[in-house]
Amino acid sequence: MPVAFIDLAAQRARIGARLTESMLKVVESGAYIQGPAVRELEAKLAEFGQAKLALTCANGTDALVLPLKAWGIGPGDAVFCPSFTFASTAEVVPWTGASPVFVDIDPVTYNIDPASLEAAILEVKARGELTPRVVIAVDLFGQPADYPKIKALCDRHNLKLIADSAQGFGCTLNGLHPLHWADIATTSFYPAKPLGCYGDGGAVVVDDAGLAERIDSLRVHGKVVASDLAGRTFDHDPKYLSMRIGLNSRLDTLQAAVLLEKLAIFEDEIAARNRVAARYNEGLAPHVLRTPQVIAGGVSTWAQYTIEHADRDGLAQHLKAQGVPTAVYYPAPLHRQPAFDIYPAVGGALAVTDAAAMTVISLPMHPYLTEADQDLIIAAVAAYQG
Ligand SMILES: *Cc1c(COP(=O)(O)O)cnc(C)c1O
Repeated sequence: MPVAFIDLAAQRARIGARLTESMLKVVESGAYIQGPAVRELEAKLAEFGQAKLALTCANGTDALVLPLKAWGIGPGDAVFCPSFTFASTAEVVPWTGASPVFVDIDPVTYNIDPASLEAAILEVKARGELTPRVVIAVDLFGQPADYPKIKALCDRHNLKLIADSAQGFGCTLNGLHPLHWADIATTSFYPAKPLGCYGDGGAVVVDDAGLAERIDSLRVHGKVVASDLAGRTFDHDPKYLSMRIGLNSRLDTLQAAVLLEKLAIFEDEIAARNRVAARYNEGLAPHVLRTPQVIAGGVSTWAQYTIEHADRDGLAQHLKAQGVPTAVYYPAPLHRQPAFDIYPAVGGALAVTDAAAMTVISLPMHPYLTEADQDLIIAAVAAYQG
């Protein structure tokens, strides 16, 4: 059998019976939207993520736009983010009318380089066209960004901080989740993410109850929330009162039921992913330009295991011929893509981002990768003579 890039069937073999039972319960309950499993999941996500509150939503992209809307980000505002990331991170910014400003990455971790972030903030301030408002840091491939340094810059320049943890939900730095530094952390439950469901889904974790309440309103069409009612009377049921322009971004009860089962084994799966990564590092280090390195004090969820190779495309072909699938995240950085090349990149060029895009290649990674399959993959990489 060929090796799987991400083996969801292996996970099903472990918890499939429980999953089927949980899903059937939801189907029979009739509570398909905002059912009890959604509330239960939100409580468990908050606990898992060291947060006061968690709110689920329709996908990881909405999870990013919800806080931007809650803060009133709009035309004339600058939102700083990396270019070496999935489109969602930057896409949500123009939705609000604001402008993304692309920042370069650290060559070792692929996460925002604090020095480049500082240069970008100063550049935007010097130009005077946009107002710096928000930083979206990404926990790329599963490892935490350099939050202590990023947070210090946000404090100095009065910026909000979002942790885009779509790939890294569950990652920690010195034992703390990104929310310790960020105003809000977001995640995606897209099936291939480390904590995925069987469709689309997303969530935010947050400590600020006021921010959570505004997001709760926004995710359900701008519905009335408690603070909207305080001190007011209505001559009709306020249930259908629209207080702000919102969206429809709810998590299905079925997906919540799936996620409750998966969250129960998530810590164990993160540990397994870390064992796989450590074994890869050892076997691959002599054969490639770079094996992944996690920030000091950090624990990655290993959404991807990404190496660098001088002949990345040749290696991909060679591995494919041996039944080993690979993927490239990301071959074209956002600031070079048609949808995004109109937005500023700090200094007009992102040298580290461009260089990484040429050499990165991701290997099969999931908690159920056997040592035998891993040995086969390592041997196949070692045998490539490029
Ligand atoms: C997957 C992903 C998202 C968006 O998630 P969806 O659920 O697909 O909307 C956002 N940011 C990053 C970095 C991602 O990898």
